Amino acid sequence: MTSPETTPQKKSLNFIEQQVEADLANGLNDSRIQTRFPPEPNGYLHIGHAKAICLDFGIAQRYGGVCNLRFDDTNPTKEDMEYMDAIKQDIRWLGFQWANEYYASDYFQQLWDFALRLIREGKAYIDEQSAEDIAAQKGTPTRPGTESPYRNRPVEESLSLFEKMNSGEVEEGRMVLRAKIDMASPNMHFRDPIIYRVVNHPHPRTGTTWKAYPMYDFAHGQSDFFEGVTHSLCTLEFVPHRPLYDLFVDWVKEGKDLNDHRPRQYEFNKLNLNYVLLSKRNLLTMVKEGIVDGWDDPRMPTLCGFRRRGYSPESIRKFVDKIGYTTFDALNDFALLESAVREDLNDRAQRVSAVLHPVKLTITNYPEGQVEEMEAINNPEHPEQGTHTIPFSRDLYVERDDFMEDAPKKYFRLTPGQDVRLKNAYIVHCDGCRKDNDGNVVEILCTYDPVSKSGMPGAGRKVKGTIHWLSQEHCVKAEVRLYDRIWKEENPRDALAAIREEQQCDALTAMKQMLNPHSLETLTDCYVEPYAATLQGEHYLQFQRIGYFTYDTSHTAERPVFNRTVGLRDSWKK
Ligand code: ATP
Ligand code: MG
Repeated sequence: MTSPETTPQKKSLNFIEQQVEADLANGLNDSRIQTRFPPEPNGYLHIGHAKAICLDFGIAQRYGGVCNLRFDDTNPTKEDMEYMDAIKQDIRWLGFQWANEYYASDYFQQLWDFALRLIREGKAYIDEQSAEDIAAQKGTPTRPGTESPYRNRPVEESLSLFEKMNSGEVEEGRMVLRAKIDMASPNMHFRDPIIYRVVNHPHPRTGTTWKAYPMYDFAHGQSDFFEGVTHSLCTLEFVPHRPLYDLFVDWVKEGKDLNDHRPRQYEFNKLNLNYVLLSKRNLLTMVKEGIVDGWDDPRMPTLCGFRRRGYSPESIRKFVDKIGYTTFDALNDFALLESAVREDLNDRAQRVSAVLHPVKLTITNYPEGQVEEMEAINNPEHPEQGTHTIPFSRDLYVERDDFMEDAPKKYFRLTPGQDVRLKNAYIVHCDGCRKDNDGNVVEILCTYDPVSKSGMPGAGRKVKGTIHWLSQEHCVKAEVRLYDRIWKEENPRDALAAIREEQQCDALTAMKQMLNPHSLETLTDCYVEPYAATLQGEHYLQFQRIGYFTYDTSHTAERPVFNRTVGLRDSWKK
């Protein structure tokens, strides 16, 4: 076990790290550290989960502890093996490896036995009231609740009904098991919380063995306890659950472990990003209703969406590190995430040339049929990564907006009478253009300076502008997808709730009113240099002067498809 003193120094400790260090110093749990990441397998992981993952795994790494993956699979109607596999893939992609893979469903027997014990001890009872009646009796934080008429029923009755809840004899919703705590407690979670309910749906792992399933509050803390978790880190909405968490752990411990071996829950703020809707429930609606092209649509805030969009795992980790952990909710700026990815990709990305809005450029004094291989640097941040070549010829494509017939003074690109350098190649002089009958520019006419290439006598001649280009004959046609924010609303979570409230409508109806109609722009008439189409294995690209891109999952060398990860500069304030 490494002590805090031997771990690498970083700026300052966040409040969870401070707590962990205090717990270690006090010798709690024999100064052992064990955390867990506990996803419910009811959807794919999103960037909010990345924040939890970085903390759960990060604390274990930093303090020489263990972090396990535990699937919180107590709700069989919503859960699926597909999600479990995807969750594991995404955690690994993010750069973390769990020590053990656990399932809350592995503890169904232990939880059942514990529940039986509570009934026998008079700490739990079967309530046969409807969900509505139970809710109506809850009271309010300032008004005590009403005790259920079943609260003091004989233990034997509860025991026998509990067995029936699990044998298939009891329909869903007919009865529940409740902990008997305090209907007048100022903490609403103490007002005889439901701890077991009937679910008549096969479980992805335990099949039809169980019909009675533990509720989250009854499964989570006990699972932590059974596994030996020391620090159970979760988000702030669980603050009011903490006393119940502690109570159930006290009950399950039954005075054992006098050395105070027990898990402790600590809460941190959720990640919220502007223009982004998190929460798997909402994301599932978007996928099911076809608002997006699957969980990994590059506009989705899922980890697989960011991966397909071209985000590196490092950029997500850096972003999480930048925003940090606090005890109050905030709305973070998406631009901060983009600046993290830009910073990371600047270091990582392979530079290539692509023309997204092509127009022809002809070098009228360059020999017809001649081809030169020009040398292009792979990554100026890493000269050791070498160069590749890009074919040059008389007939090129350049970006349409790199030419202007009547240009303003500070326009240093192609305009009649002006010299411009073609990157990695020659200086050309713009002589004019040809237009079609409608007045659209269809060809730019230039002459080149044959001694202006790198290594030649005229190479040092300075011109103000440099533009990129592709050889018409050699470049490869490609589809390029440009993404923008999917929601028009800065705070889509609140906006969604407000619309639903106002119009009394479902989530889909509300979502449709919030959609940015321009979140995806598909360009089908783009070109890339041959090297970019055939590159193998390299994932992160910079289309020079345009932005960061990656191959889409549908990409092939014959039919290249690229996704824009992020532009070169912040365009969010537009
Ligand atoms: P969702 O509402 O998206 O389904 P959840 O909290 O129900 O989220 P779980 O799979 O139950 O998702 O959560 C796994 C872990 O991830 C929990 O510890 C949870 O607190 C954490 N988590 C979920 N969303 C966020 C978020 N936005 N920021 C930080 N942590 C989060
Ligand atoms: Mg959930």
